[in-house]
Amino acid sequence: MIPDKIRAREAAQEVLDEFNIKRIPVPIERIIKSKKIVLEYAPLDEELSGMAYTQDGISIIGINALHHPNRQRFSAAHELGHHVLHPAEIQATVHVSKGLRALRRDPISSLGSDPLEIDANTFASELLMPEKFLLEEIGPDGLDIDDDTSVEKLAKKFRVSVSAMKYRLGSLI
Ligand SMILES: [Zn+2]
Repeated sequence: MIPDKIRAREAAQEVLDEFNIKRIPVPIERIIKSKKIVLEYAPLDEELSGMAYTQDGISIIGINALHHPNRQRFSAAHELGHHVLHPAEIQATVHVSKGLRALRRDPISSLGSDPLEIDANTFASELLMPEKFLLEEIGPDGLDIDDDTSVEKLAKKFRVSVSAMKYRLGSLI
């Protein structure tokens, strides 16, 4: 299996359309609950962002409650991505996610290059930071990706972490 970023982006776009999302921040909790997925928060190991699995036919998302709320939003969107994109894979086993961190820390590790993780991150980025809204916020003058204050401001508006915003901006270029 290889990552399919186009499919991941399209799937996120479909969710935005389905819920008629017209403004940021994207209500990720409401979306997940509307899809009849059980959303649970629990303290997990620092390195774990969340998990996705199905049990007795019930779709479940677990989020690390110890992380910053904005990071939890990305984790929730990432796990929703697994339910949307990888239903068969998470049927068989509990899928544990290390999210963006692992990708950044060691991009060539087995986890960093795991196509499931890449797809779920692409899905989450597009869902929480849709290109259309992002371009609107950035405006015609553009944005310096190395200007931490501007990136922080932007991240706050979308209610995502600064690293998630940097990851997203990187994919725009
Ligand atoms: Zn994952």
